[in-house]
Amino acid sequence: MKLSDVTLSHRYANLGDAFGTRIDPTPFKHPQLIDTNPQVMQLLGIDPTEAENPAWAELGSGAKLFHGSRPFAMKYTGHQFGVYNPELGDGRALLLGEIENAGRCWELHLKGAGKTPYSRFGDGRAVLRSTIREYLAGEALHGLGIRSTRALCIVGSDEPVTREQVESGAMLIRVAESHVRFGHFEYLFYTKQLQAQQQLISEICHRFVPDTEGLSTGEQAEALLRFTTRRSAELAASWQAEGFAHGVLNTDNMSIIGDTFDFGPYAFLDDYDPGFICNHSDHTGRYAFEQQPGVVLWNLNALAHALSGFVSVEALRDCLEQFQPQVTHAYAGRMRAKLGLIEEEDGDQGLCADLLQLLHQGEADYARFFRVLSHYRCERPPEGLHDCIATSQHNALELWLEHYDRRLLREKSDSRTRNRAMVAVNPKYILRNYLAQKVIEAAGQGDYHPLRTLRKLLQSPFEEHPEHETWAAAPPESGKRIPLSCSS
Ligand code: AMP
Ligand code: MG
Repeated sequence: MKLSDVTLSHRYANLGDAFGTRIDPTPFKHPQLIDTNPQVMQLLGIDPTEAENPAWAELGSGAKLFHGSRPFAMKYTGHQFGVYNPELGDGRALLLGEIENAGRCWELHLKGAGKTPYSRFGDGRAVLRSTIREYLAGEALHGLGIRSTRALCIVGSDEPVTREQVESGAMLIRVAESHVRFGHFEYLFYTKQLQAQQQLISEICHRFVPDTEGLSTGEQAEALLRFTTRRSAELAASWQAEGFAHGVLNTDNMSIIGDTFDFGPYAFLDDYDPGFICNHSDHTGRYAFEQQPGVVLWNLNALAHALSGFVSVEALRDCLEQFQPQVTHAYAGRMRAKLGLIEEEDGDQGLCADLLQLLHQGEADYARFFRVLSHYRCERPPEGLHDCIATSQHNALELWLEHYDRRLLREKSDSRTRNRAMVAVNPKYILRNYLAQKVIEAAGQGDYHPLRTLRKLLQSPFEEHPEHETWAAAPPESGKRIPLSCSS
């Protein structure tokens, strides 16, 4: 499909006025195309030859709309840091509509598009820095096999936007199968709009939850909570296994279909530190790395509460009780793959826990350790494995490797096959904060090449790409724990 043939439809906006407000974007005066994402274009069925089409600058900044666009600000609320906030909604983003391709529907959401009735004191804008971080995060997570929203294109401008300092404004078109958050259901529940809530339950079930057609609202609501619980458990497990810290797991940042959603001060771990807090305004560590599964469950409780008009407390509790075992199961599966284990053994959890403890104490870089370990042959540690860990932990590592050796002997796979499988799940390239920083600084100077290079590497993070070795380097000490604020 040519870019000019893209036509949008509007199942969400068609739900009615209870769900948001029809409003047009406020375009930038001088939009400048920074990048288009060929993988997402392909997902939507847009011809790859359209990647350089100058029309992207206008489409990606609201100056021109896709055929049939009916921009719509969605209303939602949510719990932020545990406190209910009734004033939320799309304050700087608009749902443009959806595209169907190859049997799937994708919503386009223009972020940074100007003020809406839900902007409160905000300016409706997003800065280049946060837009690049969101753009890259979606690709990095997707590249690692983690559910995430993604972005179709990114557009910059010379429009000044004031945060801690004056920065420049940017927009991106976010793409997801749904932009409905836990907070959409909380809004309808707390404002007692039961009929609208019924409509939304039915719509989400119709689109995403199998075998719910024709069920009563109560049955659908229960099936929806089971579905979201399972998806969220898999999501939390994959964050923990791949070392991703979201940073702001408020219920308005939780996707009903289990995508990683709304990127703020997120971080991929450099050194393995379970207590890592990436958001410098998270003083209590509510959203620390190791807290994530617990917080996701807290958020699911809030969602369950919002569905309590339709589902009995017993049934809600039963759904939520599935969460912990689902996380454990999904996490164990991912960690086993990272360790190259195909069979399942009772002791695997202990083996993994012992390793994590020594990685923590040895201040080891999480991704690099697993990448080097991927070349392990029985009783022959690969070159550089010990260098990943502080010398104080070398004895502990030796001990752990003895256990690992014994465990590997009970595997049926040969080491060559195992090495290949491990390299395919332990990334060489991850989105480290210092790399994002480097790309942002270049983009600020008008050089978008580093951004495009990093985007491509993150889209195939398991490949060697020998010509881009520097992007896989260990972070400098100054590049670790860069404090990140919520302002975006
Ligand atoms: P976030 O921190 O991006 O998840 O946003 C939390 C809430 O604040 C949402 O309702 C956003 O729409 C709104 N918001 C964040 N930044 C802005 C902004 N610059 N202008 C208007 N609303 C905003
Ligand atoms: Mg948000």
